[in-house]
Amino acid sequence: MSVLESGLIWRIGDGSKARIWIDKWLPFASSFKIQSQCLEVNIICRIPISIFSRLDKIVWRCSQNGLFSVRSAYHLQVESQISSRGQSSSAANEHKKWKKLWKLPITNVEKLFLWKACQDILPTKCNLVKKMVIEEPFCPFGCLEEEDVLHALWGVVAAKDIWSSCSLTFQKMNNNFTDFRELVMVLLSKFEEKYLAEFGVVVSKIWQRRNEFTFKHYLSTPSQLIHHVTQELDILKSLLQSKTSPNAHLLNSDPSSPKWQPPPEGIFKVNWDASVRKENGTIGIGIAIRDWQGRASNVIAHTLAKDALTIDDVLVELEEVPNCIGSLVDPIE
Ligand SMILES: [Zn+2]
Repeated sequence: MSVLESGLIWRIGDGSKARIWIDKWLPFASSFKIQSQCLEVNIICRIPISIFSRLDKIVWRCSQNGLFSVRSAYHLQVESQISSRGQSSSAANEHKKWKKLWKLPITNVEKLFLWKACQDILPTKCNLVKKMVIEEPFCPFGCLEEEDVLHALWGVVAAKDIWSSCSLTFQKMNNNFTDFRELVMVLLSKFEEKYLAEFGVVVSKIWQRRNEFTFKHYLSTPSQLIHHVTQELDILKSLLQSKTSPNAHLLNSDPSSPKWQPPPEGIFKVNWDASVRKENGTIGIGIAIRDWQGRASNVIAHTLAKDALTIDDVLVELEEVPNCIGSLVDPIE
């Protein structure tokens, strides 16, 4: 019955019977129904109106003469099975790739950064223009291109300088990506963990370097950045190897990390951690506020972190971390 329904369509005659907004009558569109008022205008204008006042009638769209045949119904069913299998397998594929990302041996901050970059919620010039914070979307490095996430982390000359000093794998990649998410999906499907970890650490550092340049007018050299990347990858590697290390809570793969205990009902618990970077004299503060059921109140945490650092507004984003990545934020007692 559903095959029959999906194969039947109105053939427009005088236009008096088919319900324009509800019925299937468009000859080319994917669902044969009107989806939006503007997209189908061209198609609709091409449908000839019957000059003999022929009535609208329901026809079988899978044969040229509009008549039903078992053979064409069979083909329709096979087609729809293949396309629904295709859709669910691509969703499952994507899910697999995200799982791979969450398991990478890099810090949770870096994983979260990658996720945010893929969601296009980094405060790039383009995104700040969209939020009406600034007026010009152009790249801070003066190349006259608009700065979206892909440009900031991959396409800009300042990033290319870095990538050209990284593993050959990245240097050999083409530049035909439509956005950063597509790039990450390709990497996740093709590359092994060690390259993905390198990628995760490098993009975070490229973004930090871009911020330093934008807000402090300081640009570290590619070799300085690569030195920090190598150092960090070494530390992460040794942390992963020594699971008993007191710093192992930085990686979520460590089962020996302390478990977060909820406060009594009606009470909020604040966990915080700070780090100091001797080489450039900067500090980082992380605050997590959770209620007695462990639900995070990241808006307050971000606000407090922002106040604590008194940094420029455009550097701070206020947002809820979605549930799917809630488990990423390691409990710190
Ligand atoms: Zn640029």
